[in-house]
Amino acid sequence: MKSHVKAVVIGGGVVGCSVLYHLAKAGWTDIMLIERSELTSGSSWHAAGGFHTLNGDPNVAKLQAYTVQLYKEIEELSGQSCSLHLTGGVMMADTPERMDFLRLAHAKGRYLGMDTELITPSEAKAMFPLMDETNFVGAMWDPVEGHLDPSGTTIAYSKAAKKLGAEIVLRNRVVDLTQQPDGTWNVVTEQGTVHAEHVVNCGGLWAREIGRMVGVELPVLAMEHMYLLTEPMPEVEEFNKSTGREMIGVLDFKGEIYTRQERNGVLLGTYEKACKPWSPVNTPWDFGHELLQPDIDRIAPSLEIGFKHFPGIEKAGIKQIINGPFTFALDGNPLVGPVQGLTNFWCACAVMAGFSQGGGVGLALSNWMVHGDPGFDVWGMDVARFGEWAGLRYTNAKVRENYSRRFSIRFPNEELPAARPAQTTPLYDTMLANNAVMGDSWGLETPLWFAPKGTEPKDIVSFHRSNDFGPIGDEVRATRDRVGVTEIANFAKYEVSGPGAEDFLNRLMTNRMPKVGRIVLTPMVNEFGKLIGDFTIAKAGPRNGEDRFMIWGSSAAQKYHMRWFEKHLPKDGSVRIHRFDQTLVGLSIAGPKSRDLLQKLVDVDISTKAFRFMDFREMAVGGAPCMVNRITYTGDLGYEIWMAPAYQRLVYKEIKEAGAEFGIVDFGMRALLSMRLEKNFPTWFRELRPIYGPFEGSMDRFIKLEKNDFIGREASAKEHAEGPKLRRVSFIVDAADADVMGDEPIWAKVGKDYGTVEKPHGYGAPRFDTSGMEVRGSKAAEGASAVRGIVDGDWRVVGWVTSGGYAHYVQKSMAQGYVPAALAEDESAGLFEIEILGHRRPARINVEPPFDPSGEKMRT
Ligand SMILES: Cc1cc2nc3c(=O)[nH]c(=O)nc-3n(C[C@H](O)[C@H](O)[C@H](O)COP(=O)(O)OP(=O)(O)OC[C@H]3O[C@@H](n4cnc5c(N)ncnc54)[C@H](O)[C@@H]3O)c2cc1C
Repeated sequence: MKSHVKAVVIGGGVVGCSVLYHLAKAGWTDIMLIERSELTSGSSWHAAGGFHTLNGDPNVAKLQAYTVQLYKEIEELSGQSCSLHLTGGVMMADTPERMDFLRLAHAKGRYLGMDTELITPSEAKAMFPLMDETNFVGAMWDPVEGHLDPSGTTIAYSKAAKKLGAEIVLRNRVVDLTQQPDGTWNVVTEQGTVHAEHVVNCGGLWAREIGRMVGVELPVLAMEHMYLLTEPMPEVEEFNKSTGREMIGVLDFKGEIYTRQERNGVLLGTYEKACKPWSPVNTPWDFGHELLQPDIDRIAPSLEIGFKHFPGIEKAGIKQIINGPFTFALDGNPLVGPVQGLTNFWCACAVMAGFSQGGGVGLALSNWMVHGDPGFDVWGMDVARFGEWAGLRYTNAKVRENYSRRFSIRFPNEELPAARPAQTTPLYDTMLANNAVMGDSWGLETPLWFAPKGTEPKDIVSFHRSNDFGPIGDEVRATRDRVGVTEIANFAKYEVSGPGAEDFLNRLMTNRMPKVGRIVLTPMVNEFGKLIGDFTIAKAGPRNGEDRFMIWGSSAAQKYHMRWFEKHLPKDGSVRIHRFDQTLVGLSIAGPKSRDLLQKLVDVDISTKAFRFMDFREMAVGGAPCMVNRITYTGDLGYEIWMAPAYQRLVYKEIKEAGAEFGIVDFGMRALLSMRLEKNFPTWFRELRPIYGPFEGSMDRFIKLEKNDFIGREASAKEHAEGPKLRRVSFIVDAADADVMGDEPIWAKVGKDYGTVEKPHGYGAPRFDTSGMEVRGSKAAEGASAVRGIVDGDWRVVGWVTSGGYAHYVQKSMAQGYVPAALAEDESAGLFEIEILGHRRPARINVEPPFDPSGEKMRT
């Protein structure tokens, strides 16, 4: 065993071996994988080996597609077969709602380069004759599904990595990790200590314990999971003989069941409601190649539905039930990337579908380690997406919820209840008393909308407009016509101070920094000129003679942004960053009467001249020390007021009392988002993401190429000089009773190819190409739509929706999204259609915001 390497990968499951292979492929060959026992000694060896591409997050779906594409490559390099069966598969819908969900998934596939197809239950039965098709209303076919040999695949990765020069050390447990002053690591193992620049946690079932070695509690938990294998079945053999094909994979939403052919019988697995965590606090180090005791009672309700839906399987004898543990994060997606607050400590764990995701995880992480950036939009699996609130008990509750709903639909207006309330502001009880329907915003209870008195404050979940539609409309109209107040504690807030603060921010941000008492809006881009942040920055008066900036951003991105800030912080201590989290909370008042209201609560002049649009001031509001921004996300006259939590109830009470004479209302996050739509304002993680350049994102006026050299300036200047390929635009949609939710395809009657139909997934990312694969289903073998359903006569899919909804004040259904730049200013009617729940609705680009296009109201 070497005593010094560039990187140590801990864990020889499918994920560790994939990371090792991708690091070696990227040119880091001085690397070592250390495995406690033999390869596949965690969950990898007893996996059912299924793979598929579909994922709720289109970016993760693309990485899953890459994983499937990779198997041929590692087989060739290693000489080891993965026993790949690319059979194709179907997802079965038993209700119209589930069919709507499949329509949505299929529509997304139009610009993701996927060949999915909506088919009838009878067509599905023709490929999996054991089902009773009368239980279903429809299905979606995906040719890129199948199964493989889990151990063979893990070994193929490891052999391929070794061929490229990587070292693998078996039967050697990592017992401790200690960081050196220079940021490198001493990896203490049973066989001695290895010094490494980088450490990667691929510990699978023990990832949590490895995190604890460095003082981090990762939000990951193992769950018991069961699947059964039947005896050989004559129906299966007969199907194979008569068609010359293997039976396909089937996913049954209703039963939370997956099933497929395995040898001459079938395999059937369930995600049962009465699910059970395994080793909820500590994972035993002596757990090896073992299985857990099957518990047939636990999966009996799922099996009952399964046997009803697939009567062919009920008749078969059960040969074996496998029960094994594997890990999940709160949302079922992996935890990948550098851990904020630590140097050179990386994660690739909580990979619940190692054979669908392992390749993509390995590629993204190796890019990140070797080139400093994952090269893709990996937010959906970034380890930074959960905050400190996701501790052991929170994780336990959320993972169980996620597991038991693995194949359930999550409606766009659906808030999940587990582990709530976690964090609350001092106004929580007041908001409940006001009949607020609360939502979870990065672990914080936040009012979404206010149900009318006497009605139950509860969402009726739906893909269509629901019971919040009327009340949100009332909140919007009252705010726009009079004045409204809302909680904004769920924004991210930071203070950057010190003698180097201004230079630091000028280096990170695309806009110039404000003068004392002023505010700017500014995106942040990475070296590749891609959007990685969007902030409001105010310059406060100096403290002890040092500059001080207040920064507001997206709450969900707090760890993501702190990681970036810390990476670029000068080493000389000239800049300090403080993340407030919930030690600073806020209220926003908006509407034409908001100034009159605020004037009653302050002792300074806040007339238009004295306190201008985009001014920042520290002042007492209702007697409480506050910071006030003259800006609101509603796009109206308004203010954001920030205070310590101890003052929030006081300020709220003062606002409500002073606002009574103006007819003040409470409004929630949904009304706020509706109002931003009619101003064409973008949102972070929807319109603005690391796959778009700032000019593509139509953020032109915030990009000052002529100012100092900022990170990503060169790439941004190039984008500007060449002209963006895409543009973010706003649409007015002729919708019926459902508005866009995000990810819908945008059709245009253009008759020509704009070459940008596939959503950008990364920069320099490998394209997903299944052309060389032999698909053994029926439909795809016949060649599913050669152009992936993106052309229909003169109509073509030219873009995708990022978000939208109903803009209540202007009474229009609106959508934002990306289209080729050449089409971005064409407001003609009849040019665009947006596909909502399978129906193409006429849509028209709306260059100027429909509410207050001149911005006069907010500047008043
Ligand atoms: C019953 C069942 C069915 C499944 N079906 C599927 C399926 O159909 N498709 C699919 O994609 N996935 C499936 N999975 C999930 C799949 O098994 C996991 O996604 C995958 O195995 C995760 O791999 P990993 O490398 O992250 O973790 P693991 O396989 O757990 O590997 C971690 C490795 O790290 C080693 N290790 C840990 N700590 C240390 C240490 N301190 N020092 C040295 N070594 C250490 C362990 O010994 C282990 O070998 C299934 C899982 C189960 C249980």
